Amino acid sequence: MVALIRQAVTWLERWHGEAPQRSPLPSSITLPPVAPAPWGLDATRLMEDLDPVVLGSYNPWHPGAMAHLDPPPNPASVVGELVCAWLNNNMLAEELSPLLSQLERRLLGWIGQRLGLGEDAGGIMASGGTICTITALVTARHQRGLDGQQACLYASADCHNSLAKALRVMGLPAAALRLVSTDDAGRLDPHRLDQSLEKETDPILAVVATAGTTVRGAVDPIGPIADICHRRGLWLHVDGAIGAVCGLSQRHQELVAHMGRADSLTMNPQKWLGIAKASAMVLLRQPQALADTFSAPLAYMEPARIAHGGDCGLQGTRPAEVLKLWLGLRQLGQQGIDELLDGALQRAQTLRQALAPLPLAMPSGNLHIVCFRPRTAGSSEAWSRHTREQLLDQGLMLSRPRYRGQHYLKAVLGNPFTGMQQIAALVDTISASLSS
Ligand SMILES: *Cc1c(COP(=O)(O)O)cnc(C)c1O
Repeated sequence: MVALIRQAVTWLERWHGEAPQRSPLPSSITLPPVAPAPWGLDATRLMEDLDPVVLGSYNPWHPGAMAHLDPPPNPASVVGELVCAWLNNNMLAEELSPLLSQLERRLLGWIGQRLGLGEDAGGIMASGGTICTITALVTARHQRGLDGQQACLYASADCHNSLAKALRVMGLPAAALRLVSTDDAGRLDPHRLDQSLEKETDPILAVVATAGTTVRGAVDPIGPIADICHRRGLWLHVDGAIGAVCGLSQRHQELVAHMGRADSLTMNPQKWLGIAKASAMVLLRQPQALADTFSAPLAYMEPARIAHGGDCGLQGTRPAEVLKLWLGLRQLGQQGIDELLDGALQRAQTLRQALAPLPLAMPSGNLHIVCFRPRTAGSSEAWSRHTREQLLDQGLMLSRPRYRGQHYLKAVLGNPFTGMQQIAALVDTISASLSS
């Protein structure tokens, strides 16, 4: 085992050194042999198998990788992932992860308190924000006594598609998602929300505020939404998959002010903080609601003093993803978290300022996401496709979201290796694309 890992580290060293020169997107893919060979392979052959895997993969280490919310991974989190696999503990039950189950409860309790969810805050990790959203909404419905009933959900027109998936899993029709229009900055309009809630005739399982929308990075006005939920006795869920991490920084917590007034909240350290995937969690003001909702007898386990991990969410067997999060946060420290958020916000600000003189519509929020298209009246489909290709030729990768019927180019400035050189080249290409 150790000899193999040592060889793998040497192999990784070589590829890691070359990563900044390799385009973010591979131009072609060669699959390695798929089926097992008749006889098992030695370390050297295994590493040879892995070579084409690297060459065919998305490369987050390139400074021009700014298409999505997938930054280069935090180094300590990569080590945490290796140790996690080596320990091979199981978060299903306390006896299969004695320390790690406690570590997850403690760390999530600390994060929950830090985000303002109160003394009793806690939660559970799950493989991605979508599963966390489903976990939170199933819990909200159960807590409100609405299991098996027709119920609806309120969120902004720019909410994430995981809400639609959650409704499907819950057996509710797509129309149960009531979309509230946003203001010009892409934030849910609380006045409209209140008006719609007033007229609602179905039971309401939750109101969802988004702290960081996926296309433009807008943060809904959580304070006024929380006031409405409080007055009407409604469950408030905050989808903080992108923005909730700002609550870990004293310098940037104002960006997601009042987030701690939620009943439940999701946060994805795998996005902006760069903790190796998957790293996502659902946090609750009253975490015992999870066991109330999901507990089902686990006959083959020793009873635990507190609910087993497998009693607190959708997943049964689950890796100790807390380990890489904990180690990653330990490596960053409070200062590292501040600087990571700072750097991304500053790069986004620099890009916005450089693009400002150009004839662009730029419907960005105030996080690290910059989204734009030509201000002309016609379709931007062809422009966005050509320009994205031109950028890719220079090793600059942006994404091309469709938003309100138009195509945009979107840059996420979470990659700490993105520098002035990439930003300047990006602006030059965009500028030239508009004059040609
Ligand atoms: C990414 C994202 C999610 C879903 O997270 P996954 O980990 O991709 O499942 C939910 N909400 C928002 C706002 C997101 O950006």
